[in-house]
Amino acid sequence: METVLLGDNILEQPRELIAAGADRVYLGNSPELSFYQPEFYAKIIVKLARERKPQIMLLGSTSMGRELAPLVAARLKTGLTAHCIDLVLDENRILEQKIPAYGGLLSIICPQKRPQMATIASGVFPKPDMDADRTGEVIHLEMPDDVPGRIEILEVVREEPEGVPLESAPIIVAGGAGAGDPDGWQQITDLAKTLNAALGCTRPAVDEGWAALETMIGQSGKMVSPECYIGVGLSGELQHMVGIVGSQMMIAINNDAKSPVFEQVDFGVVDDCREFVPVLTEKIKEYKEKQVIC
Ligand SMILES: Cc1cc2nc3c(=O)[nH]c(=O)nc-3n(C[C@H](O)[C@H](O)[C@H](O)COP(=O)(O)OP(=O)(O)OC[C@H]3O[C@@H](n4cnc5c(N)ncnc54)[C@H](O)[C@@H]3O)c2cc1C
Repeated sequence: METVLLGDNILEQPRELIAAGADRVYLGNSPELSFYQPEFYAKIIVKLARERKPQIMLLGSTSMGRELAPLVAARLKTGLTAHCIDLVLDENRILEQKIPAYGGLLSIICPQKRPQMATIASGVFPKPDMDADRTGEVIHLEMPDDVPGRIEILEVVREEPEGVPLESAPIIVAGGAGAGDPDGWQQITDLAKTLNAALGCTRPAVDEGWAALETMIGQSGKMVSPECYIGVGLSGELQHMVGIVGSQMMIAINNDAKSPVFEQVDFGVVDDCREFVPVLTEKIKEYKEKQVIC
């Protein structure tokens, strides 16, 4: 397996990739690469792909990968499957790229063009065991002379992530359209804080402006696998539920007893979340206080 690593001050990182299973790392380590620039990054990857002619090329379905992959695929004149949640390589080395669609999983293949390209949703594959004794090759890439310069970085503002990260949270509270308004959303936020849980959401919560896109769970968002998932005021649409299949225990709170979400979870509460959630939050607070006193 060959990997490409681009950035600045990253001379130590190839060792980690090799420990994780890479046989060869193509390393672009240069101040010119310290900030992600789509056209420049694409240029380097396309040049390398033309030389190496890989059969398969995978990128993470991160905000960067989702932008970079189509740029690279278009220049290589090949296909691209976005946000795959599984991959299967058949006996003819055709890659089945699986995405959730039409109420199930759909396999997309690219039988003629090469490389076969896909972006992979985060969290769908387990992290490999690290083997510090593995050996591999690091090849230093030369930077192209001309930096495509249509983007000029004027300032970098780093936003510190708030609360518990979704990817590693043991408990996730996810809110949906049933929150109703910002006050209802605040109640769900309070529940998550009280449980020391990460706060996730469905698409409508993003559309309403209650939650950030980075906290959306599902087909177009994050894949999560907490010990406990609590879905509040959401209907259990496939595009969301595909993101939580790895959860060990699932609970739903919904005011419609016939909601399809109840067929997919372990425990259900049929109630108005606007009334139930604040009471639940208070009870948990009381319970936590008692635990401290004991
Ligand atoms: C290509 C594509 C990709 C998508 N990707 C994603 C994705 O990654 N993630 C995602 O989440 N969505 C995604 N969607 C959108 C998805 O199809 C659904 O529209 C969305 O998940 C529904 O969100 P919801 O359950 O919050 O809203 P709704 O489906 O509107 O459900 C709201 C639920 O809240 C309940 N409710 C209402 N009021 C209350 C109350 N007071 N108390 C308790 N319950 C109440 C209702 O009974 C209902 O079940 C995608 C869609 C497409 C087409």
